[in-house]
Amino acid sequence: MTDDRFETQNRFRPEDRFPAGAQYIAGELRAGTSGRTHHVVDPATGTRVWTYELAGTADVDAAVAAARAAFPGWSGATPGERSDALHRFAAVLADRAEEFAQAESLQCGKPLKLSREFDVPGTIDNTAFFAGAARHLQGQSAGEYTGDHTSYVRREPIGVVGSIAPWNYPLQMAAWKVLPAIAAGNTIVLKPAELTPFTSLLFAMAATEAGIPAGVVNIVTGAGQDAGEHLVSHPDVAMTSFTGSTAVGKRVAELATATVKRLHLELGGKAPFVVFDDADLEAAVHGAVAGSLINTGQDCTAATRAYVQRPLYDAFVEQVAEVMASVRVGDPFAADTDLGPLVSAAQRDRVAAIVERARGYATVVTGGEPVKGEGAFYPPTLIADAPQDSEIVQAEVFGPVLVVLPFDSDDDGIALANDTPYGLAASAWTRDVYRAGRATREIQAGCVWVNDHIPILSEMPHGGYKASGFGKDMSSYSFEEYTQVKHVMYDNTAVARKDWHRTIFGDR
Ligand code: NAD
Repeated sequence: MTDDRFETQNRFRPEDRFPAGAQYIAGELRAGTSGRTHHVVDPATGTRVWTYELAGTADVDAAVAAARAAFPGWSGATPGERSDALHRFAAVLADRAEEFAQAESLQCGKPLKLSREFDVPGTIDNTAFFAGAARHLQGQSAGEYTGDHTSYVRREPIGVVGSIAPWNYPLQMAAWKVLPAIAAGNTIVLKPAELTPFTSLLFAMAATEAGIPAGVVNIVTGAGQDAGEHLVSHPDVAMTSFTGSTAVGKRVAELATATVKRLHLELGGKAPFVVFDDADLEAAVHGAVAGSLINTGQDCTAATRAYVQRPLYDAFVEQVAEVMASVRVGDPFAADTDLGPLVSAAQRDRVAAIVERARGYATVVTGGEPVKGEGAFYPPTLIADAPQDSEIVQAEVFGPVLVVLPFDSDDDGIALANDTPYGLAASAWTRDVYRAGRATREIQAGCVWVNDHIPILSEMPHGGYKASGFGKDMSSYSFEEYTQVKHVMYDNTAVARKDWHRTIFGDR
């Protein structure tokens, strides 16, 4: 990467791209009608970059009506037609890659190099994956199971999907929600987080530009309590797909259950990072720093709890602190920035308060003081000597904070890794294939890495165990969420009086 890629700084202007407002309904931008406005703030500087009208319940109704109207045409298209449209969609995204990267970095504060090298290419790859996968929806084989009938399975779309996304990876979350849903023939209304509307809107607009019919992808940008709850409760929405915190996920589950909706929940995480005493220490140290600091720690799979077997513990703590101190915190648009701000001043204050409380029972090895100034910056922070049942070990911090604890036996390491309510992701660090095999079998998480932590890919499922939720994003497994299977059964005999009718007519 060269410095001149950064020299133009941010060129993305929301007022130019979204002149009519932050709602995208039936292929058109419009203003929200809730009567309330929201300011999008650049978290690196604290300055307002855009003000928009939030969606109200009437906007949700309009978006659901648009998605409902688009459903017969889109679900009736052939898989090949949907696949072609998704291929064109991937091409439009690739053309617009730089705009997406700048918009994402502006609203989230994530380093431009992260947006350029992770969020945007990942989204383009996901789109290309689902373009192919749209032609591979599969069911069980057909057959004559009774001898007198032929049975087969149809895999059908569900209808209008209502999706709700968080602010940490707005573009990728929009992609993970929208792509499997529409590849399978559904239409969708997506509500991004109020803080981060830009890339969800750009994503939906790119879908239209690629020829995906108006109404197939709609965006309502509103608050959780009104727009979000109305979308989950809406009688014309057949499925709710939610990514966010476990606390809000429970509320969403209650509302979705009341209207008997299919439900997919991707919730919080508290990923363990288990280092056995035969691990490559350099790899584990660098893996822990990168895995805990990615996206300023605002990553549901980020390494948050390092358990290190006693012989390596002291060296691990010392080296992680040293590498963390070398990480450069600063302007997301500067080429030499490794770590941007948190998404908002409120999130920074939340993280700072959790670390302050931890000082009462643990040792802050490095970091731990908010960076002074207007931006929502918080330094890489390592905490040791915390009890397993303490807040810093058990609760989701969602900031650049890693807590490290020692363990003695392999049994202890695995038991500690499993000792939180969450189960989204985990990693095991060892050169022993049997230890690795045991860790991958016994750690309760939707993903277990061996000798790495963070990589994701379009072909493999992402989703939680335990309080991290249920259902899968990405991969062909996501079609289990976004399709329903229908058994179709044909009589082959053409006999009017079937044998089984005896149960009704007796011997007549
Ligand atoms: P959040 O739960 O506060 O909000 C998520 C979304 O829900 C937002 O769009 C918000 O407006 C909406 N919402 C809030 N209250 C609502 C309500 N009552 N009804 C309907 N919608 C409502 O989460 P956040 O702070 O935006 O994001 C961080 C959380 O997301 C973390 O817990 C993180 O672990 C989780 N996350 C999970 C995954 C995953 O794949 N499991 C991925 C990314 C983020």
